Amino acid sequence: AKAGGRSRFDFYTEDLTRSARLRVETERRLRCALADGQLVAHYQPQVEIATGRVVGVEALVRWRDPQRGLIPPGEFIPLAEETGLIGALGDWVLHEACRQGVLWMEVGIAPLVVAVNLSAHQLRQGDIVESVARVLRQTGFPAERLELELTESALMEREGDTVGVLDRLREQGIMMAVDDFGTGYSSFAYLRRFHLDVLKIDKRFIDEIDQQPDARTIVDAIIAMGHALGLKVLAEGVETQAQLDILRTQGCDLFQGYLRSRPLEPDAVTSLLRTDGRG
Ligand code: C2E
Ligand code: CA
Ligand code: CA
Ligand code: CA
Repeated sequence: AKAGGRSRFDFYTEDLTRSARLRVETERRLRCALADGQLVAHYQPQVEIATGRVVGVEALVRWRDPQRGLIPPGEFIPLAEETGLIGALGDWVLHEACRQGVLWMEVGIAPLVVAVNLSAHQLRQGDIVESVARVLRQTGFPAERLELELTESALMEREGDTVGVLDRLREQGIMMAVDDFGTGYSSFAYLRRFHLDVLKIDKRFIDEIDQQPDARTIVDAIIAMGHALGLKVLAEGVETQAQLDILRTQGCDLFQGYLRSRPLEPDAVTSLLRTDGRG
């Protein structure tokens, strides 16, 4: 190697410094975005398979950056989770979704379930039960219409405490859903410990049900298990009529997916529900 030339190590530390700087910068911008009202919630319809009716919506956050446009959550939620900013961000989404839920009630939209994602970090905050109760009080949204989605891995973390937190949320009338089901270490025994209302089958299984007999068998088993535990089962990421037809014969209760609608701005949800005969 040439004397005075830069070593691999120099490049490595340079890269690290650059990515660390980028992270700090993104975190700062995200914090401002939250304070400046640059976050928006979109809503994806949840459809009852037997009737084709939209019975709920899932709130999905986006970042409307003045320079970069609409940024999807995959690009900032992980950072928000690492930095703890997800606490404030999650509170914002919950409040916004409940506020919007009340607006839909006020314009005469038939009762809808509003589902909101909770991260593991929010569950770990000691005051999640109280902060959800506070949002319901502040917005006037009925607890019975709120559903909170937790991923399998969030549930598994500190399992013992989580059972108690979920029970206290459910005592208020809130529904609980397990999200991305099938991607973690699920077992019948584990699901039974949590008192849940809805099981959301991860998109990766749904993607393959019209191609792979194995995927179809697995989805069949998940639906049977969910029903045996008294849960409603929702299929995520349904994109084709063929997938929906299979899910219907399998007795799946609900679906979400581009086949019916992408996540929409609140006004577009209102129009969709009106044409759906729900307003
Ligand atoms: P998720 O909770 O599993 O949400 C479903 C994701 O699948 C959404 O992506 C939705 O737009 C997408 N999707 C739904 N149907 C289809 C389909 O038919 N085809 C395809 N290709 N995609 C479909 P999105 O909005 O980009 O959100 C990604 C993830 O970001 C969410 O996955 C969730 O884990 C996280 N996220 C979004 N909003 C929040 C939030 O407010 N709080 C927290 N903690 N996480 C959030
Ligand atoms: Ca979700
Ligand atoms: Ca999911
Ligand atoms: Ca997912």
